[in-house]
Amino acid sequence: MPAHLLQEEISSSYTTTTTITAPPSRVLQNGGGKLEKPLYLEEDIRPDMKDDIFDPTYQDEEGPRPKLEYVWRNIILMFLLHLGALYGIVLIPTCKLYTWLWGIFYYFISALGITAGAHRLWSHRTYKARLPLRLFLIIANTMAFQNDVYEWARDHRAHHKFSETDADPHNSRRGFFFSHVGWLLVRKHPAVMKKGGTLDLSDLKAEKLVMFQRRYYKPAVVFMCFILPTWVPWYFWGETFLHSTFVATFLRYAAVLNATWLVNSAAHLYGYRPYDKNINPRENILVSLGAVGEGFHNYHHTFPYDYSASEYRWHINITTFFIDCMAALGLAYDRKKVSKAAVLARIKRTGDESSKSG
Ligand SMILES: [Zn+2]
Ligand SMILES: [Zn+2]
Repeated sequence: MPAHLLQEEISSSYTTTTTITAPPSRVLQNGGGKLEKPLYLEEDIRPDMKDDIFDPTYQDEEGPRPKLEYVWRNIILMFLLHLGALYGIVLIPTCKLYTWLWGIFYYFISALGITAGAHRLWSHRTYKARLPLRLFLIIANTMAFQNDVYEWARDHRAHHKFSETDADPHNSRRGFFFSHVGWLLVRKHPAVMKKGGTLDLSDLKAEKLVMFQRRYYKPAVVFMCFILPTWVPWYFWGETFLHSTFVATFLRYAAVLNATWLVNSAAHLYGYRPYDKNINPRENILVSLGAVGEGFHNYHHTFPYDYSASEYRWHINITTFFIDCMAALGLAYDRKKVSKAAVLARIKRTGDESSKSG
């Protein structure tokens, strides 16, 4: 954000509301954080996190587009996975109820590993988490198998900072298919490599748990995303190997992948833009349903530091509900939330007037 825009943002906020600030130690003083209210922010004050803020000064370079280079290994594996998932749908009527419930359970836990973990905690640092929660999130994230947290967060910060340019790994200007899954099937655009390399990832490099996952990622994924979900129904309630593999593993994995990808595709193409009509990301309730609260995407790109990734908290947002439960247990703290007044000021200034409150 250029200095004059940031200044405008801050001053428009300051004139309409007061900032409630509190030291993080407040969490400990009131007994495990039970009474802690989200910290309302008037501007992004995360001192060590700036590289997820949109940089409008970056523009695509002129010249011919580089030729697409297909990654055949990924194309074949993705094709086989989706074929397996389709067969899983065929098997649903004959699979045991417990297997179906297990698949749904695994869906939600692995989705939280992406939304509450890789996204809101590690990519954006919108709240802080104590070790037991971070342990849970890194395991859940491994279940989801969407690249390790370090790589996911690097791609995601580039997606916000260089949004809708060639340096955005899933640039939605290249169409629905590219931003959905196509970007994983071709070599990255040179601009992604070049600009991605300039991002500050020191916080991730300094976090032992994130580096530990990166180091043992392959064997961990084979176990958490494939072996464990297949083995449990077979061992505990005598499900057939076939049903276990195709319903609990392939169908569930493909479902979580597509729900996440819809945030990059559908939520960048379909929906209203009540907060900022000048950017592509949109508010998409259907995406929020599938991606456990990540479809309020116009808001999220406007205020990437808000822990709810939405103006609201528990409205179609299981991830925020989960983080709030963790906060009640004292495991999450320092949740950053933009004040209503700042949101309303922004709606007035840059919204598309679809918002009733605007
Ligand atoms: Zn984000
Ligand atoms: Zn986005």
